[in-house]
Amino acid sequence: METVFNYMIQLQKLDNHIHEVSLFLDSIPSQISSIDAEIKESEQIVEKAKNKLEQNQQKRRDFESDVQDLKDKLAKYKSQLNTVRTNIEYRSLLKEINDGQVMIDSREEDIINAMMAADKLEEIIQEACQKAAKTKDMLSKKKDDINRSKDTQEQEVAKLLQQRKELLPGIPSDSINIYSKLANKLEGIALSPVTDEFCAMCYMRIRPQMLNEIKAKSKIILCENCGRILYFEEEDEADQSA
Ligand SMILES: [Zn+2]
Repeated sequence: METVFNYMIQLQKLDNHIHEVSLFLDSIPSQISSIDAEIKESEQIVEKAKNKLEQNQQKRRDFESDVQDLKDKLAKYKSQLNTVRTNIEYRSLLKEINDGQVMIDSREEDIINAMMAADKLEEIIQEACQKAAKTKDMLSKKKDDINRSKDTQEQEVAKLLQQRKELLPGIPSDSINIYSKLANKLEGIALSPVTDEFCAMCYMRIRPQMLNEIKAKSKIILCENCGRILYFEEEDEADQSA
């Protein structure tokens, strides 16, 4: 029975280790997708700035075509000045020409402002591009690291599962059944070591009579509180794992 106990303790340690590695492996997809989201976000900042520049350039082209239209109109009015017959017509044309010139001046100012805004936007785009490239570089490395450790941890799980498989024949099936039932019920932890007369999992004090029975390792003793299989850690075993 002592050997069975030692095997069950090993089984619990293996299962704990498998659980730990599985948690890491399960977390990988969400780690990767949050990295991808971060990369996308930095690229979107560049995209947004580029869109703004495009809008700015479109606006500038509109202003320029406004100016051209106004200039054409003014040229037409100026040529009409020679053909008008009345003073009223003449003054009205002069007013149109004057108003048109004011509009042209205002549009030309708009064009200069748009050009200055474009310079600023180009700076922003350049900065955002550099930042996005740096972010992508850093995060791609992080992703590579995760994928590499994924490979090692998958190999680790395979190794642990193999060890588990080799361990099982050494444990009688009724003990395995008790272990499995408890593990299913108690979040994977079927065994609890006794430390200083307490169950290490639920901190229940163990009665002296039970302590002796646990030490004897002649039968399975369950914690009266949490229901786990109780055992003492072997001194030499503790040394080995340290
Ligand atoms: Zn307990």
